[in-house]
Amino acid sequence: VGLFGTSRANSLGVDLNDVLALDTLNSQRALWADHLWQAAATLPNAPSDPTAQLRFNPANLTQAVGRVSDATKHQVDAALDLLEKASPMAKADRLQALRITADLFESHYPELFALLAREAGKTLADAVGEVREAIDFLRYYADQAELQTNDAGLGLVVCISPWNFPLAIFVGQVAAALAMGNRVIAKPAEQTPLIAARAVELMYDAGIARDNLVLLPGSGVEIGTRLLSDARIKGVCFTGSTGTAQIIHKNIAAHLDTSTPLVAETGGLNAMIVDSTALPEQAVRDIVASGFQSAGQRCSALRILYIQEDIADKVIPMLAGAMDLLILDDCWQTTTDIGPLIDAAAQNKVQNYIDQQKSAGNLIKQLRAPSGGYFVGPALIRVSGIADLGEEIFGPVVHVARFKAEDYGSIIDAINASGYGLTFCLHSRIEQRIAQTCRSIHVGNTYINRNQIGAVVGSQPFGGEGLSGTGPKAGGPHYLATFAQPSRVFGAQ
Ligand code: GLU
Repeated sequence: VGLFGTSRANSLGVDLNDVLALDTLNSQRALWADHLWQAAATLPNAPSDPTAQLRFNPANLTQAVGRVSDATKHQVDAALDLLEKASPMAKADRLQALRITADLFESHYPELFALLAREAGKTLADAVGEVREAIDFLRYYADQAELQTNDAGLGLVVCISPWNFPLAIFVGQVAAALAMGNRVIAKPAEQTPLIAARAVELMYDAGIARDNLVLLPGSGVEIGTRLLSDARIKGVCFTGSTGTAQIIHKNIAAHLDTSTPLVAETGGLNAMIVDSTALPEQAVRDIVASGFQSAGQRCSALRILYIQEDIADKVIPMLAGAMDLLILDDCWQTTTDIGPLIDAAAQNKVQNYIDQQKSAGNLIKQLRAPSGGYFVGPALIRVSGIADLGEEIFGPVVHVARFKAEDYGSIIDAINASGYGLTFCLHSRIEQRIAQTCRSIHVGNTYINRNQIGAVVGSQPFGGEGLSGTGPKAGGPHYLATFAQPSRVFGAQ
């Protein structure tokens, strides 16, 4: 079994053979072919679409996963009309439906794992974590909503979700908005509409009203722009790149009510510092996980490692040795540690960047990548500090800088000066340093002596500041309030 392992699937009582069996089915017919259209068919007069586009597995470009139809302009308008006229579900009903959705996700484990592996190139280990996170969001937000008194929803809320967590973040956004009594238009990432469609089908099966939730798959530029120019939209929830968040922000300012809230979770230039008191084996394990798990396609992922020069010549070779154990392969293998990048554009961008760094003499190491999918071999790149980094490289690339003991404070200043503030990790055994750093670093999530990915719903609310986001933390107690009107009716008898 590879480094990241799949034993968690077994601990959920899922026989991996059930997941693997879906592969055979899928090659015989387009198993998920019509899901998307069935979801979009909740709209009035939805025609069947003969031009629906076939989608392929990013780990195996010969394997079709399903057929996708983009929503038309007419359907966007129809969705707005439908939701505008609808009443929100009663609180007890919608919370019950969210909890039943969680139960349905549990009873559909094999199918959801398979679909995440196939459409999003998730390893089975990542797929297990993702389905569990989606279930946690559903139950956590249902429980949190019970506690809210100001639960008059905003009205129509648009949720725009990313391809890197096509189930967990998609469901988290939608569940939060629905829990607070909003009607929701969900616009999934262009790369991953099939898993979103399956999630919406299960939400309908669980009792979410079809006029309270509509899925509109398609292009962000076309569908997103059309939605954000409609004054009936009263709230926007977005996870994706910093650049897109800035465009959405401008759109809201130009077209919508000035009080329209935007919840944005965006990118990061996330740092880890390993000082000379760290445990090398532990640090190496956590660098590998933070930088390379999910092929580095997490906004929380490690982008720059600062390593104290006293231990650098010991730790960097250990890190290179650990990387050699990583298995890059089709996600259908239970031994795979690292799957593909999401699409050709991502693969080209990340590999071109690594090639440029190689020409400049900065490449420390890159693993070979398999062919047949959008794979990029994990890489280490030498830099002198965070100021050498340009925009976020969303892939398995860790920059490595050495530092001298006396420069510790100026590294913290440089990290803060980057403008991003999502995750940060410190490996150190100096308690005073840990306490001081936690006070002075400006990020949403700080991790000590562990990895810096995989925030847990409920106990590690997730979200950044500055260029990394607008603040409210997903999976935390203050998130739901953003999706409701503040209380405004007060009375006495
Ligand atoms: N919540 C995820 C984590 O802690 C990252 C979410 C994202 O990449 O958007 O790793």
